[in-house]
Amino acid sequence: MKAAVFHAPHQPLELVDVPTPEPKTGEVLVQVAGCGVCHTDLHYIDHGTPTFKPPPIILGHEVAGTVAEVGAGVTSLTAGARVLIPAVLSCGHCTLCRSGRENICENSQMLGNHIDGGYAEFVAVPAKDIVHMPDDVPLVEGSIIADAVTTPYHAVVRRGRVTPGDWVAVFGCGGVGLSLVQIASAVGGRVIAVDVKDAKLETAKRFGATAVFNAATTKKFDKEIRALSGGGVNVAFEAVGKAVTQEAALNSLITGGRLVLVGYSPETLPLNAGRVMFREIEVLGSLGCRPVDYPRAIEMVRQGHVRLLDLVTHRFPLERIADALDTLRGGDAIRVVVTP
Ligand SMILES: [Zn+2]
Ligand SMILES: [Zn+2]
Repeated sequence: MKAAVFHAPHQPLELVDVPTPEPKTGEVLVQVAGCGVCHTDLHYIDHGTPTFKPPPIILGHEVAGTVAEVGAGVTSLTAGARVLIPAVLSCGHCTLCRSGRENICENSQMLGNHIDGGYAEFVAVPAKDIVHMPDDVPLVEGSIIADAVTTPYHAVVRRGRVTPGDWVAVFGCGGVGLSLVQIASAVGGRVIAVDVKDAKLETAKRFGATAVFNAATTKKFDKEIRALSGGGVNVAFEAVGKAVTQEAALNSLITGGRLVLVGYSPETLPLNAGRVMFREIEVLGSLGCRPVDYPRAIEMVRQGHVRLLDLVTHRFPLERIADALDTLRGGDAIRVVVTP
């Protein structure tokens, strides 16, 4: 099969023929219809973030496709089934899995990080967490649900616990941020979106944001947010991954508010603990999404609450994976998908 193989940072992925994987016991072989291109891949390729499995490895963790073959012992799926593969697969038996927190499983396996991913014609994965994709959700664009929709779903519904009427601020309007805007609006939040690009803010408005601020051109936008929301927002989501943005998000909260950290940052966040204590501020991390919530996230797409076709701005065949990565690097695309 054709695959784009990652060998080392600062090198292009190599398009080669590799043996098609055979599904082992409990696994399925999925023919990849689409694989979302994600900033996480750029971290491996451009910034030297190590993959868990040392290279060579096939990257790509947002995969939808059709079951081509089932391994021994698989009864939940049959060949031809339309499926979405969760970006992170859980073990099902660790303490965290058994307490319903599979998204932070101690033995998690991420596609294109622990195991070969979706920049290939086929991928073999454990069948346990694979979810069915309804017929009226397209597979190519639907691939991005595996991260760019489910991660925001978990952040809004499980961690941020947004309820109707809540004021919500979303910092960063990339693929994840724009899904945060749509899902927070869909559950009844009044959403204020913040980004440094006007084009992304216009999209945020079309996706349900009631107000937007350009952080590059608005002075003291955290103060503006507090004024607009009558003292501060109930829930702020940070999807940029920078300490300065996290601080602004914290400053935009009302007393009793929640900051949900969705973007990854290696930096230290300066935190006034007295203020957190006295104002009962909650600071929460949010990682991925529990497999059990995937069907709910898919349903939000199916019902049109998350506008998938507007989120996927670019599509490339696998042969043009280099162009796909460049398009993401350019910063103007919302979401890019490759089609093997
Ligand atoms: Zn991703
Ligand atoms: Zn586990």
